[in-house]
This record gives sequence, C-alpha cells and structure tokens, in this order.
Amino acid sequence: MEKQIATELRKLLKDAQRQFLSLHNNFPGKQPFSGIVRTNALPCGSGSRIGGIYPTISRINHSCLPNAHNSWDSASGHENIYAVRFIGAGEEITISYDHGGPSDERRRHLKDAFDFDCDCSICSRQLDELQQSDERGREITRLDSEIGNALRVLQSPKDCLKDCQVMLQILEEEYEGSPGVHLVRLYYDAFQISIVHDDQARARALCRAVI
Ligand SMILES: [Zn+2]
Repeated sequence: MEKQIATELRKLLKDAQRQFLSLHNNFPGKQPFSGIVRTNALPCGSGSRIGGIYPTISRINHSCLPNAHNSWDSASGHENIYAVRFIGAGEEITISYDHGGPSDERRRHLKDAFDFDCDCSICSRQLDELQQSDERGREITRLDSEIGNALRVLQSPKDCLKDCQVMLQILEEEYEGSPGVHLVRLYYDAFQISIVHDDQARARALCRAVI
C-alpha cells in the first residue's frame, strides 16, 4: 500500500501533496503514507472498504457524543458533514469514529484503530454516570441486534416495534436529547418492520417523523 500511495501522490499537484503530507499521522514509522491514510481516511459509505482523504474533513476529531455526522453521497461523489445538534460559534465540530457500545469497547476500538485515548464528554463522566452510560450502551447494542433479527421481524413485529420505542428512550437519554444519526437509523428500522407487514399508514408516519 505504501508504494501504491507514493505513486498516486506523485500524480498530484504540489499543493495537494503538501495538504496530504500536512495531515496528522498516528502511526509514525517506516510507512508514513500508509500511516496518514490509516489516520485520516473516511469510508466512502457505511462499511465500505474504499476510503477518502480530505484536506478539511479528515481533520475533524472524534467524540462519542458528536455534534456532526459524516455521510458519503455516492451520486455526487462527495463526503458531506451534517450538524446533528446545535453547534455554537467557536465550538469544535466532532464526528464519531466508532460503532457505539460501552466505553471500554469504544476506547479499545479507538486505541487499536486510531491510537488515541478518548477523553470526550461521555468517556470523562464520573464513575457512576459512566457505569449508567455503559449499561445504556450495552442495551442499545442488544436492542439493535433484536430489532435487526429478520426472523423476529417476520414473526413478532409488535415486539420489534416495542423494542424500537424502548431504544428511542435510551438513545434520547444517552445522547442528551440529540441522538442524531442513531435516531434516523432507528426510524428506518421501524419503517422497514412496518412495510414488511404492509402497514403503510405506520410506514408513512415514520417517514414523516424522521423528515
Ligand atoms: Zn469517548
């Protein structure tokens, strides 16, 4: 990968090369180009193995309670940043690099993948608050898996929708009233459960609610 990146880098204009080389590298060593890519690449779509490097967006730091969300638009070929809560003048814009769960799992993932210790406002909570937050994180992961269980969606749609409601309350609590993209995913899941059972009225209401 190092050689491949070096070849691609040589094709860029000097300014673009400088922009790339000025990005942070969490993995200094013998493979500086790969280190910069590993530190700064954002996936082009959820779960994509293709990533993009951006002179500005790649500099956005992580928070487990982010105020923005990154999203790849395949039609325009652009990575977009959306505010998910009010961002005050001078406040740092943050996005989430992890997939949720309790703080020890999040912090381990962030350390392994990006080599930093998260000290965001959630990870820095007092011990008793952090334990409650971790409990919510575990419950969100459990409910997410229950809601995504295709067989259960077919056999027990009402139970799945009830889980969506419980999840909504937990998300509101954990993300201090602004669950952002988690909320959109949850509504989309509830929409899918409804449409699978041809409950078009509910599906329409869920679409309207999220818009
Ligand atoms: Zn954190």
